[in-house]
Amino acid sequence: MGLTLEKATSIVIRSLTPNKPYHVQWLLTRKCNYRCRGCDVWREPDKRELSTEEIKKGLGILRKLGVIEVVLSGGNPLLRDDIGEIIEYASRFFVTTIYDNGSMAAKKIDALRHADFVAISIDSLDPRKNDYLRGVKNAWRSAVETVEKLHEEGISVTVSPTISQFNLHEILDFTNHFLNKGIPVWYCLYSYDSSSDESQLFKIGKKDDEYAIVDKEAMADLCDSIVSLKKKNSNILMTTKILKALKEFYLTGKRSWKCRALQNFFAIDHLGRVAGCHVHEPVASIFDLAEAWSSTRFDALRKSYRQCTQCNYLCYIFYSLHGNVVGNFQIAQDKWRNAKLLLKKNGLMTPSLAKPR
Ligand code: SF4
Ligand code: SF4
Repeated sequence: MGLTLEKATSIVIRSLTPNKPYHVQWLLTRKCNYRCRGCDVWREPDKRELSTEEIKKGLGILRKLGVIEVVLSGGNPLLRDDIGEIIEYASRFFVTTIYDNGSMAAKKIDALRHADFVAISIDSLDPRKNDYLRGVKNAWRSAVETVEKLHEEGISVTVSPTISQFNLHEILDFTNHFLNKGIPVWYCLYSYDSSSDESQLFKIGKKDDEYAIVDKEAMADLCDSIVSLKKKNSNILMTTKILKALKEFYLTGKRSWKCRALQNFFAIDHLGRVAGCHVHEPVASIFDLAEAWSSTRFDALRKSYRQCTQCNYLCYIFYSLHGNVVGNFQIAQDKWRNAKLLLKKNGLMTPSLAKPR
């Protein structure tokens, strides 16, 4: 679908409407063909998943709630046979991003033409390091070839490294490498599930000393370097605001944000269960969400999540900092992906959205 004028208008209206959830991560499947060392998803497989029609119904509910962006992840969502139909349907209403570990996207080009963004996970420029992290041979080669193929095909592909102690010192070179090829970069940040609560929506992984960032000054310097790079290259899909917040966090431990789980964003698992984030327990089914969303029970949960400091997952920080009307303007001003890239790609960029920071 990409960005039609109708979809762009609808997104702008929803962006400027207060008290709407902005961002949803939907883990469509627990199936995965990779064995990443820091991830538990493949260690705890579950064959069950929602049907195509159930997912479409759920997407309709998200639309009515005013959600703007849907990220389809897993497991590997591209392992679903119906993924083309799901992407096509989601992309009619939402800015739709889909994740791949670099193994499947090149085989599903036609399905991906409807996605607004395809994010390919690559963690290093060194094939051996990358394959060690991914737990399968030739993962690096496959991911790099996939990125090139998608780029050639005119699909909005981004690379998405997870910054950890393991690759911290090469992230700047990594970023420059892909920027020089005209490929945007969107970062993830190594984090882990500190909760021992067995009822959490799904598990990603426990603390691993190999990845936990201990070189905090180097992390702060990296944030500064990326801010400087952003002045020259708009393909860094992180806002200056979040980079500054991260720098402060790594240097002082201070969080300049309050978590907005179940307010600006929430997560849905492969069975349609909804939680503020994956670390907390499910609090509704997608099919009951419209009613639950404005309940006093949800208000109480939001209040408690605002005090929560249990994780540093970058996407959750991002949507805590940005997912409201003011934040949406900041994103647009920062030439972030939902604004500039989409509009530019479709020849719809407006002068106000193009304004440099
Ligand atoms: S990180 Fe992603 S690609 Fe790797 S095993 Fe987990 S779900 Fe699969
Ligand atoms: S800080 Fe927010 S996103 Fe992280 S575990 Fe707590 S409620 Fe979830």
